[in-house]
Amino acid sequence: MDYTEGQGWHDPRIIPYQPLTLDPASMIFHYGQSVFEGLKAYVTKKEQVLLFRPDENFKRLNKSNDRLCIPHLDEELALEALKTLIQVDRDWIPNAEGTSLYIRPFIISTEPYLGVSPSDRYQFIIILSPVASYYKEGIAPVRIAVENEFVRSVAGGTGSAKTGGNYAASLKAQQLSGTKGYSQVLWLDGVERKYIEEVGSMNIFFKVDGEVITPSINGSILEGITRKSVIELLKHWGIPVSERKISIAEIKEAYAAGKLEEAFGTGTAAVISPVGELFWQNEGMSINGGKTGEVTKKLYDTLTGIQSGMVEDHFNWCIEVK
Ligand code: PMP
Repeated sequence: MDYTEGQGWHDPRIIPYQPLTLDPASMIFHYGQSVFEGLKAYVTKKEQVLLFRPDENFKRLNKSNDRLCIPHLDEELALEALKTLIQVDRDWIPNAEGTSLYIRPFIISTEPYLGVSPSDRYQFIIILSPVASYYKEGIAPVRIAVENEFVRSVAGGTGSAKTGGNYAASLKAQQLSGTKGYSQVLWLDGVERKYIEEVGSMNIFFKVDGEVITPSINGSILEGITRKSVIELLKHWGIPVSERKISIAEIKEAYAAGKLEEAFGTGTAAVISPVGELFWQNEGMSINGGKTGEVTKKLYDTLTGIQSGMVEDHFNWCIEVK
């Protein structure tokens, strides 16, 4: 679908997957005006196709649009377009356990113009790809390193938007941590390097002395949909959970006192990712003996169960594509 100033969004269409033809002066190539989303469709044992909270993705896309000066999309129309596209590609959705159809909606600025200003032309595109199970041999803990040198975002920046520039800014740290054997970095705040923000493509939770805690939404972290679902589930189960500022020093103290019981990341790709080790200031903190914690496992089983239609969806989070 295209956007042209004065005309608004127009010409929705489904076409076979193919290369895009863009003018080399298109503003997206030079000024990074892009937003995107990521979600998954799952096939249930009864052959239903389920989308997990897709309305939240389109709501967040519009929030990102606000920050990047991109015109709003009609969220209901976008969801209808997605459902139609999935029906067209129904045969591509894998149905083996743990597999899914990854969905990537995105918007780019296409006006050919060299100069920094909001574009007056855009394209909204949705691409799809079958994906294998994230965990090939069952849910497995990851090792993550706290990032002290680089920052991903600062208050007032674009950290809360899902825009390409944030990910470009994170590559260097990600690459360096990879060479040291860590799969992701844990970002600290961009001012004091004191407070925990999030992981590369996940929000982060800790279980300390019986309470689950996660950094509050502060304008520089992404408001994860899995994060929101986890908070709702924990409240429903009566497990204490709070959103607040958490310093890395507080986590280290909890570790030293034997009170750091579990840690996990949340995000569409892995759903729940247990953290087995956190590295900070030349010391590796082993969490729950490097094994998946009880609450982490329960959250993983429940969320993946709801998404695949195996666990009752009391919250009405899933939408059936039919
Ligand atoms: N933070 C970042 C930076 C991400 O890229 C993601 C993945 N979208 C998340 C958090 C988790 O968000 P969600 O649960 O909506 O996938």
